[in-house]
Amino acid sequence: MSIVSNNLKRVKPSPTIAVTTKAREMRAAGKDVIGLGAGEPDFDTPDNIKKAAIEAIQKGDTKYTAVDGTPKLKKAIRAKFIRENNLSYELDQITVGTGGKQVLYNTFMATLNKGDEVIVPAPYWVSYPDIILLAGGRPKIIKCDEKNNFKLTPEKLKKAITKKTKWLILNSPSNPTGSTYSKKEIEEISKILIKNKKIYILSDDIYEHILYDDFNFFTIAQIDALKSRTLTMNGVSKSYSMTGWRIGYGAGPKEIIKAISKIQSQSTSNPSSISQAAAVEALNGTQEFIKKRSDSFKERRDFVVDNLNKIKGLSCLKPEGAFYVFPNCKKLLGKKTKLKNDQEFVQKLLEKSQVAVVQGSAFGLDGYFRISYATSMENLKKAIERIKSFCESLN
Ligand code: PLP
Repeated sequence: MSIVSNNLKRVKPSPTIAVTTKAREMRAAGKDVIGLGAGEPDFDTPDNIKKAAIEAIQKGDTKYTAVDGTPKLKKAIRAKFIRENNLSYELDQITVGTGGKQVLYNTFMATLNKGDEVIVPAPYWVSYPDIILLAGGRPKIIKCDEKNNFKLTPEKLKKAITKKTKWLILNSPSNPTGSTYSKKEIEEISKILIKNKKIYILSDDIYEHILYDDFNFFTIAQIDALKSRTLTMNGVSKSYSMTGWRIGYGAGPKEIIKAISKIQSQSTSNPSSISQAAAVEALNGTQEFIKKRSDSFKERRDFVVDNLNKIKGLSCLKPEGAFYVFPNCKKLLGKKTKLKNDQEFVQKLLEKSQVAVVQGSAFGLDGYFRISYATSMENLKKAIERIKSFCESLN
């Protein structure tokens, strides 16, 4: 008998590990591997935010805080929602966790009973299905088509709903595709959800501030009839280049927020007091960084997409958000190239050309791969050259 619990046995090891482990081994062996797998901005945390953290240490803000966030940070989050999303919350409708990931984890731990279903549109962020499984629920994966920019349609949503559906996850802009839902698309999906009154919506807005081409961000809690059933998750990780500080937050129904606090009180307690002070400055301080950084990401997105589309056998949509693209490599799979699937494609790309990307099947959709362009233009130029030579060698 294994010491490992049955609950944990249901969770799969991360499918992205194979590529990242191999890339690490190759680097250790002195190979010049270009990593396009990272899920974090390559920019440093802005100085005003670092300064706020140093001041917090010097002032003695180094003790336990309220379990689910300091009143100061909750007030900054409340102001953010009013300012940017026209959404108003009481402080007891807001929770702060150790990263957006903990907010998600706590939400599902707090609300799922055995067999409850959560609709997860694919391609999805790799952690959703496993967090749902850990919490005893059932991820209901709905594959979304490239021809609809990998987005969930009202028809697909309607078909996926059963008596057991408890939650729908929406992630816009999306990891791994960068696709972003317009106000109109959210309104169309909302019509189905308004009719199905028992379903809650988890809106993962973590990439809200990484948007291009003047795209107007809209989040589902802005639909009045759904606000009382929506938990909006967001955080400072991606917006302010603060992945290591571990601050995420959620806003929504009081009952869920209270239950999340209960779990947090018996697990991690409060997120770091110093990181919370830094997050207050991130939200209340100057927002100039966001604009400058997005311009730089846009230049990289345009370069990567335009050049991928020049490579025979690949095709790539131009997404409106996040720092990922999700090229289609189906034409390079099969008998002619002797590559059975996208996993073999990324493995061979790494072995032969030393570029590390992640296979689409890790995100629930075969025949694609994910590139993170959160790296320097110099790296991207080299990587594109290598991907081109690799694909040409297959053709
Ligand atoms: N949601 C999505 C879609 C993500 O890509 C990530 C991080 O990669 C998270 C949530 C979690 O972010 P955090 O670092 O705040 O835990």
